[in-house]
Parts: sequence; structure tokens; C-alpha cells
Amino acid sequence: MRVLVIGRGGREHAIVWKLSQSPKVSKLFCAPGNGGIATLAECVPITELQFEEISIFAKENAIDYVMVAPDDPLAAGLVDHLEANGIACFGPRANAAIIEGSKVFMKQLLKKYNIPTAAYESFTDYESALAYLRSQKAPIVIKADGLAAGKGVTVAQTMEEAEAALSDIMVGQVFGKSGASVVIEEFLTGQEMSLLAFVDGSTVRLMVPSQDHKPVFDGDKGPNTGGMGTYSPLPHVPDSIVQEALKNIIQPTADAMVSEGRPFKGVLYGGLILTPDGVKTIEFNARFGDPETQVILPRLKTDLMDIMLSINNGTLAEQPIEWSDEAAVCVIVASPGYPASYPKGLPITGLDDVKDALVFHAGTAVENGQIVTNGGRVLGITGLGKDIVEAREKAYSIVDRIHFEGKHYRTDIALKALK
Ligand code: ATP
Repeated sequence: MRVLVIGRGGREHAIVWKLSQSPKVSKLFCAPGNGGIATLAECVPITELQFEEISIFAKENAIDYVMVAPDDPLAAGLVDHLEANGIACFGPRANAAIIEGSKVFMKQLLKKYNIPTAAYESFTDYESALAYLRSQKAPIVIKADGLAAGKGVTVAQTMEEAEAALSDIMVGQVFGKSGASVVIEEFLTGQEMSLLAFVDGSTVRLMVPSQDHKPVFDGDKGPNTGGMGTYSPLPHVPDSIVQEALKNIIQPTADAMVSEGRPFKGVLYGGLILTPDGVKTIEFNARFGDPETQVILPRLKTDLMDIMLSINNGTLAEQPIEWSDEAAVCVIVASPGYPASYPKGLPITGLDDVKDALVFHAGTAVENGQIVTNGGRVLGITGLGKDIVEAREKAYSIVDRIHFEGKHYRTDIALKALK
């Protein structure tokens, strides 16, 4: 099969890497891709929201299957567009991707079906939102309704911070239309867990659990990022908790989407928190996570193409899915300044002959034959080992070898698993 992957980050590199091992895949394309993806797939200069160009390219190049990886094109209806053009593809339609695209939708769905999540109120009007906020206590969480590249959420430790975040979203409109509604939500405490599942309507097949590290600095300090590192498995989370999350959250949510006439087909990502009162939902995403994918797919033994096709064919329930017992740790190496502004075009060295770890490119480009930085998160280095300790050592030994000016990374990825 000739397969086109849509996207350009570390997640897409991991997906392309996994698909490149499939005997079913004869040729891989990626639009637009990046410097690392280019070693495995033909990168095409079409961006994620150029729907018409994507379907024309697919038709002209006899593409058999399009895998839509990022949130923006899913929310904007790329799958609907491709299906309307008779092109087979992977990912939820827009009416199901809304579970990620609108936090107000997601919270209302969970409330209606009694699925555990933080208590909340939502508002479209600043004065009412402010009045409600002033009736609450810090810490409290303020969220822009729509997609905001992971930056629309403020976990406010003080009321001043909360009021500033609310005003930025609703008065300053820093996230544009994504901030036309806000969710003000109870602050929850506990370890977080990313629980992703392949979903075909009511059939839910869990992937292995993983944990992200959102804040930019060690010890979970500093502003939130797209994710600074992940690991899997989570040795401190017993399987009973994963099963509780499946039974109380992931399965009922898939069923709720069916009941609402919005059957979800694709990867449903549960961002969960293990509170003293049980597992609760923080968010849902409608796609593979980044950087969770960089530890999940290296542990997947089954052909990813087979699993995706089983979702198209309605045979996910019978599809064998096997995982390795190995541990995986991914450390993100970021540009100086990230998650605020950062320079681009810094030459990267030390990428040759890496044997002990997987190097996934997140934000790189090739300039005159030289790999250079081209994004905030630049590389994801995934180490695999018999346990988390060995996987960490492998990942960090490669992180140390790779250089570009001002590179920064967290040194404590996966340490929570070892405490
Ligand atoms: P993503 O980039 O993962 O899509 P997002 O913008 O959808 O992020 P959320 O996942 O809702 O945002 O929140 C980001 C982070 O903020 C969470 O991973 C969690 O650490 C923290 N957070 C969100 N909601 C709460 C809450 N109710 N209580 C405590 N922390 C929270």
C-alpha cells in the first residue's frame, strides 16, 4: 500500500518509523514531514490544513491510505473531506474529533453520562465568568474552550493569576476564537496517566499506559509545554487502576459518543489523573499523543497498519494486538527559550551512528545537507531497556552526545516511576 501520513512532529516520525516496518506498506509519504522523517518517507510540501491539495496529491499519486495524525486537521474535518473524495483514511470525523476540539463539549458529555472528571462551569460571557471565579478559591484551573497548542490551560495558584488568565482569554482574546468560551474547573491532585486506546465505535482496545511531563523544568517547575518527556510502563500504577479507567472512563466515553450519534473511530487519548477519590478525566484528545507515541509505538509488536485497517473494516475486536515487556523512556531536547520564543536554524551534531536509542525528530529541517533546529521541541530520544532504569540510561547517554547551541531538556524524566 502507498500510505500518506499527515503531520510534521516527533509523533509523526514515530508513526512513519512504525509503518516503515509494515510488510503491507510499499511506499511512505509524509506531508509536510521534517528532517528525520525524510530518511524514511518522501516528504511532500503540503501543510496539514491544505485539504484540497492533500486530496489532489493522494489521487495523483495513487495513495491507498491517509493517516491523519495531528489535532488541527482532524478538528477541521480532513477525514470527512478525504472520505467524501473516496480516499481511505485513519482518524475520527470532525463530529467526533470535537471531543478534543471543544473542552465545553467534552465536559458536557462527561457530565451527561456521569463519567468522572473535575467539577466545572463554562461561560461565554466575561462578567459572569469573573463573578463565578470570584466565588471560588485558588488553586483553580482556567481553560480556553478550543485548541490552543497545549497553551490554553492555566493552573492558577492564586486568584490574581486566575483572573489574569481569564482576562487574557476572554478580553485580550489571546487564543482568538478558541477562547470564545471558557471552562473554570476544580483543581485536582494526583499523578497523571495518559491512557490511549484504539477505538472503533464501541470497541475499545487499550494501549500501554504512559506518563508525560508537561512543565518545562525539572521538578515540574515552569510553564507547561507540549510535553518534555514520557515513559512506559508505569510501574507504580497497578493494572487494577488501568482497568478502573477503562471501565469508568474510556469505555463509557466511547459508548457515549455512539449514543450521541458521533461514533469515534481512531485513537482516543484519555488524559487522566489518579486522585485520592479515584481516576478522573482531565482531557480527551482525538489522536496519538506527542510525546506519548514515542514510547508507545516502540513497545507495539503488532503491525500498526493491520490495527488501523481493522478499524476501517470493523474488525478491531478480533485484531491481535501485542505489546513488548520492555520499558521505554523518551527525553525531549528543546530549543533555547522554548516554550516561549526560540531561534531556528541551529546546526545539530551527534546524530550519526546512534545505535542505543531511537531518535525521533520533532522540529528539524535539512539546510544544505546539515540537520538544523526548526521548532521548539527539536528531538525526542527514546531509550528501550529491560526496565525504566536501563531505558533512562540509554536515552540520556544519547541526549548527552547530541549538540546544538543552547539545547535544553529535563534531567528527571521517569524518576517518578523510581520513587
Ligand atoms: P494538551 O497539550 O495535552 O492537549 P490541553 O491544552 O488540552 O493540553 P489539558 O490537558 O486540559 O490541556 O491541561 C494541561 C495540563 O494542565 C494537564 O496535563 C494537567 O497537568 C494540568 N491540569 C489541567 N486540568 C487540571 C485540573 N483540573 N487539576 C489539576 N491540573 C490540571
